[in-house]
Amino acid sequence: MRNWYAFAKGRTDGNQSQRDLLGGKGANLAEMCNLGISVPPGFTLPTPLCLQYYDDGSALSESVLHSIDEGLRHIEKSLNGPKFGDSKNPLLVSVRSGAKVSMPGMMDTVLNIGLTHTTLEGLAERSGNRRFALDSYRRLIQMYGDVVAGLERHDLEAPLVKLKEDNNLEFDHQLTEAHLESIIESSLEVFESLAGFAFPQDPLEQVRRAVAAVFGSWRTKRAITYRELNDIPEEWGTAANIQAMVFGNLGPTSGTGVAFSRDPSTGGHRVLGEWLPNAQGEDVVAGIRTPGPLHGDDETADNDVKSLENEQPTVYAELIETLGRLERHYTDIQDVEFTVQDEQLFILQTRNAKRTAAAALKVAVDLVDEDLITESTALNRVDPEQISQLLHPQLDPDADKVVLAQGLNASPGAATGLPVIDPDEAAEKAKDGLNVILVRKETSPEDIQGMHAAKGILTATGGMTSHAAVVARGMGRPCVAGCRDLVVDEQEAKVGFRVAQTDDVLWLEEGEELTIDGATGEVFRGRIPTIQAELGGNFARFLGWADKTRTLKVRANADTPEDAETAVRLGGEGIGLCRTEHMFFAPDRINVMRQMILSDDEESRRAALKLLQPMQQEDFEGIFRAMGARPVTIRLLDPPLHEFLPQSNEDIEALAKAMDTQPDTIRRRADELHEFNPMLGHRGCRLGITYPEIMEMQTTAIVDAACIVAEEGLDVKPEIMVPLVMEPEELSRIREQIRGWAHRVFERRSVWVDVTIGTMLELPRACLTAGSVAQHADFFSFGTNDLTQTTMGLSRDDSGKFLPHYVKSGILAKDPFQSIDQNGVGQLVKLGSDAGRAAKKKLKLGICGEHGGDPASVGFFHRVGLDYVSCSPFRIPVARLAAAQALLNES
Ligand code: ADP
Ligand code: MG
Ligand code: MG
Repeated sequence: MRNWYAFAKGRTDGNQSQRDLLGGKGANLAEMCNLGISVPPGFTLPTPLCLQYYDDGSALSESVLHSIDEGLRHIEKSLNGPKFGDSKNPLLVSVRSGAKVSMPGMMDTVLNIGLTHTTLEGLAERSGNRRFALDSYRRLIQMYGDVVAGLERHDLEAPLVKLKEDNNLEFDHQLTEAHLESIIESSLEVFESLAGFAFPQDPLEQVRRAVAAVFGSWRTKRAITYRELNDIPEEWGTAANIQAMVFGNLGPTSGTGVAFSRDPSTGGHRVLGEWLPNAQGEDVVAGIRTPGPLHGDDETADNDVKSLENEQPTVYAELIETLGRLERHYTDIQDVEFTVQDEQLFILQTRNAKRTAAAALKVAVDLVDEDLITESTALNRVDPEQISQLLHPQLDPDADKVVLAQGLNASPGAATGLPVIDPDEAAEKAKDGLNVILVRKETSPEDIQGMHAAKGILTATGGMTSHAAVVARGMGRPCVAGCRDLVVDEQEAKVGFRVAQTDDVLWLEEGEELTIDGATGEVFRGRIPTIQAELGGNFARFLGWADKTRTLKVRANADTPEDAETAVRLGGEGIGLCRTEHMFFAPDRINVMRQMILSDDEESRRAALKLLQPMQQEDFEGIFRAMGARPVTIRLLDPPLHEFLPQSNEDIEALAKAMDTQPDTIRRRADELHEFNPMLGHRGCRLGITYPEIMEMQTTAIVDAACIVAEEGLDVKPEIMVPLVMEPEELSRIREQIRGWAHRVFERRSVWVDVTIGTMLELPRACLTAGSVAQHADFFSFGTNDLTQTTMGLSRDDSGKFLPHYVKSGILAKDPFQSIDQNGVGQLVKLGSDAGRAAKKKLKLGICGEHGGDPASVGFFHRVGLDYVSCSPFRIPVARLAAAQALLNES
């Protein structure tokens, strides 16, 4: 293996495709040299050397030291003048980290290496600018102390800060030679006393130790944390780039800056950036002085730094031209770091710019229009997760904000409203037209109404898969969950927030609003203005390309006509899961439902069901109308009946009164229905086997609704789904009954509609016997939430105590409730699909469950060959794009 890769005008060994080896920075420096762009010469020590450094006990081997020597000779050769360590004409270099992907601010760079007491004088003389040489030296001592010696920045900067204070100076460029001399002197003392060794006066020792420090920075705590958060593998390592210095601190005709080839927040086709004259390195971003704009048009009266355009028109023109060239070459927005040395432009870094979701979309579409990329490439340029950000109103980034607390970013979007603790009150207030935020310790299924009515949901406990989080994502409600500093006083109906590092609680005033940002998990005081998502234009065009490309269909999990409308608006091609249980929680229904459950005999059960039937029918009519000719899968009642019964004494008494019975009768029935393990209890099709009249009512309501809407001229496609089948015989019996009930409706109405009957595969045994199950099914829909629970033996509600640890410690790569467990649960899906199709060629296959909106899972389901995924309405666009990418990237 070669140990170093040159980049320079005369000789460049690498190119842009070698990110793995050279890191992003090194590969692009090489590529820019290949393109003939003005880049100071240098060389890259490739990433394997970083790993070798650790293997060698955090030391540089002889061969690496040799490579550094060779590389330095290469730089000297290509500059043809300055020599490293030369007392008359010294070459200075930077040592720059650079991993495969950029990890902004995580790793280290040292500038001006090679300066010593001796070379300092040479540089001063040669440049005729002693102030500049001194300024470079004091920067080196500071940076070296920080990066190599591991000293506190604060201590290192103390001499500079003190001198500026003593002399009443605001900016670094105001320092005189004498000031700098004295800062250098004090800095060297600080360095030696804190580091325990003197600042090295041997240039070669400087460069070697800097390289070691750059390799070492790969394993700093912040770098490790950053990698964990961003899924960057430890084994990549970082490259080190050693590059000849160019100087932006030579005086007013020099400077340093950053530029984007387009606006990274809007995608607008205009170069955007900043520069600072007589400055070096990170001065622009460090915020020590307000930089000036690039364009003359952007100059402002309150900034004494003028634009690059007016100060240095030639450099400006060259910069704009270079940005255009780089953008055309990389066919993407570039984020560039540059330095001007005496009116000469040097590019020090280029990379694809990080951008907002809106910008990502606009740029992808614009680049297609500009013939720079194809539609397929454009589709691969946008992260499906980013798409979801576009759907929710977003907080105005320019607004003033007071952060009250930080929780988990459980469901994206921003919402402002009155905090309300009681879900019923929330629903009432919402009816009166008020915006409310439902604030709870945690939520439960009974809170659904309140959650639906609220603009946003805030909870104190629970994680990313807590009830609040899952339901909120399903509803497209913004949600911040697990907000530990939130205090909910149910008695007093007060909401407060713990004040950091004190025992105080800041209680909100009566009527005081708060704002949550579900994308960041932040909670703010008061109302913060939002900006609305725009779904036309680029959004529609871009997703149109995705639709043209993909073969996997995308449906919605939608329980109400409103959800159904949202689904259609967002491109849903049907409903893959319409759950019916929520429909019974409305105030005018829940008591009838409870009456049905409390009945001892079939007759009184039927009487109650008769009351529910027209209400159900109305629900389904609304959904069919919203969906038109798109298929609608309706799942028959699934949860155990006791979930509908009241829990608190208060509620039990109220119900007893309403039903004209004794509270104890209700308690007794509730006890009878109590289960130790409801997830595996009397629910799903087991309810239908023992209480067929419930299914009869639901089937009749569905078919009646379908007939009515069909007569209105819509080509409805109802699909009745039987949940929790474990044994083919269950489905066989229920299917025959459903057909009989449906037939009765057809005869009564003299209308015939195609109704298909299928099942939800959510138990391993159903997947294992899928061939037989398919005999009785027109379709399978894999219920991957329950299938994950039952396959892995994991309760979604209880796993929060240990699952995060499993993921963090790497036992599981991902939370299996968020992204399908491809090796386990996914294999059951595959097995069930293959066996089902083998038994029945025309069997329709889909999945419903949170996974339908997860891009990695969507890719998997595409490869398994399902017909569709079904996800919450607000995830539809994500799934549309993910399905297109899955097709484009299969090979
Ligand atoms: P980061 O990865 O943190 O951006 P860099 O290695 O890009 O760190 O270095 C930070 C800045 O230091 C660069 O943007 C540039 O301004 C300056 N810099 C790095 N190397 C040189 C060099 N050879 N000459 C002049 N400035 C340099
Ligand atoms: Mg940089
Ligand atoms: Mg289920």
